[in-house]
Amino acid sequence: MLEEFKKYFWIAKAISRLALSTQKEVVVRFLTAKKKYLPDGKTKAHVDDILKCALCPNMCRFDCPVLQAAKSETYAPAGRARIAYLLEMGRVSSQDAVDLMYACAACSACQQWCPFDFSVDDLLIGVRRDLVDRNLAPEMLMGIRDQIVNSHTIYQNSRTSLGLEPREADILYVAGCTVLNKERVIAQTTMKILEKVGIAVTTLPEEWCCGAPLNLLGFENDFKEFAARNADIIEKSGCKKMICSCPECVYTFKDVYAEAGFPVKADVMHTSEYFLELIEQGKIQLKELNKDLVYHDPCVLARKLHIIEQPRRVLEAIPGVSVREPPLTREHTRCCGIGGLLAMTNPELSVTLLRARDSELCELADTVVTACPACKIAFKRTRNSESRDLSEIVFESMNQ
Ligand code: SF4
Ligand code: SF4
Repeated sequence: MLEEFKKYFWIAKAISRLALSTQKEVVVRFLTAKKKYLPDGKTKAHVDDILKCALCPNMCRFDCPVLQAAKSETYAPAGRARIAYLLEMGRVSSQDAVDLMYACAACSACQQWCPFDFSVDDLLIGVRRDLVDRNLAPEMLMGIRDQIVNSHTIYQNSRTSLGLEPREADILYVAGCTVLNKERVIAQTTMKILEKVGIAVTTLPEEWCCGAPLNLLGFENDFKEFAARNADIIEKSGCKKMICSCPECVYTFKDVYAEAGFPVKADVMHTSEYFLELIEQGKIQLKELNKDLVYHDPCVLARKLHIIEQPRRVLEAIPGVSVREPPLTREHTRCCGIGGLLAMTNPELSVTLLRARDSELCELADTVVTACPACKIAFKRTRNSESRDLSEIVFESMNQ
């Protein structure tokens, strides 16, 4: 309070020099001005924060991959915030303005520079919730919502389990929709690693999507239903520890569920953290593997979960493996183009992002290793060489 007072003391001094009637007018204006710029009704978006972002000097623009791909200031983080503000105030309602609210990779690169610690994708979630409430969400996104709500996963003709019988175990493995439907090898190698070191692990009879796409797209009520169901079924599994291969699932189960009022009653870990724990306990024995790799930090793993060292330490523990670092690495990593459902909402931008990141990695090694099934899939699309998950490298090394 004293600090606040000191900060604004110069204003008080300046006002005190004015005539008494003017002083009163200035104080009233100072206290009410902000209201003029905020919407009258209630919104789900934090318009006050969006306004700060819209008026900011915008240093984050140099790190936003979507702006770099789109080459238009409208796509700058603050550009999107300005349009978001106008949408919230009801001053624009064009389809282009609405579509812009989804042209974000949810990569949080902007947050690295932000004086307010904003990630624009977090600000946009509230805007999208308001668009859903106003029936302005694009038709295509309603289709994605219906697919998830009806099939419990984002993929069509989908699978929602690994087909294993639940059993008594200390560890619950939740694969996530992408692993179950597109990268089952990640689940298979993870289960084999744990079996090989004698850890009893179980799976859910039917996995529902963690709900991250529903949350990202602003379908708040549907997301809450998924969160309530999943938190309940995880608790009923009786496992006190739960591991997932997908960073987005870990972030959603661990942080977003808690914020939404459905905390998961288990210690949620990413596989890279758990593998490191097992290596340090001497349970996972790694053998020589002569490989040159480049490690790609998945945005959510590095920037939302701050899991940066663990996957590196796992790779460094493998004799013979040499790990290269791309120029944009760790918390300054660059999105693979799949983040924030960009591949669905704006495929062209997504491919441009992917090509940019892939060419940076290709220069360093033939094999890119990552710790996210979506990133692995992305790099498989453009790479002529290998794209592997951390679990596959660990398993390969154990079986030398
Ligand atoms: S995200 Fe932060 S740094 Fe970027 S424009 Fe918005 S307020 Fe400014
Ligand atoms: S989250 Fe990523 S894509 Fe979205 S505005 Fe921030 S830097 Fe740009």
